[in-house]
Amino acid sequence: MIFIIYIVALIQNYQKETNVVEESRVCSKCKIEKPLTQEFFGPQQKNKARLHTECRECKLKYMKQWQANKRAEQDVDGKRDKHMYTIKEYTEEEKQRLMKEAYAHIYYQAFDRPITDRQLKDLEGIEE
Ligand SMILES: [Zn+2]
Repeated sequence: MIFIIYIVALIQNYQKETNVVEESRVCSKCKIEKPLTQEFFGPQQKNKARLHTECRECKLKYMKQWQANKRAEQDVDGKRDKHMYTIKEYTEEEKQRLMKEAYAHIYYQAFDRPITDRQLKDLEGIEE
């Protein structure tokens, strides 16, 4: 298995090496053949002598997509932050309900049995 991977790696490497002398390249993304110049294919970060397998247009598209995704993510984060803020704006009823839920949970943890409705009823009107 490792041997096969090694062969594949060798072939890929060979293809990369031969890419240097080719005069046009088919973009790995849009599959359009374009002249193999820096005008159409940007240089690779690691090895500036080699050009990307994706054309500049596709790279740009990818970058824009990435930025859009990033922005969407931040948007969601922003909304989440806002949501965190609105938690403080619970109505009195909601607060009571949440307190009851919390108390029922604590009661169950402490006594290992669910709280009774009567006990919950007694909680009504308890201030924070
Ligand atoms: Zn392309």
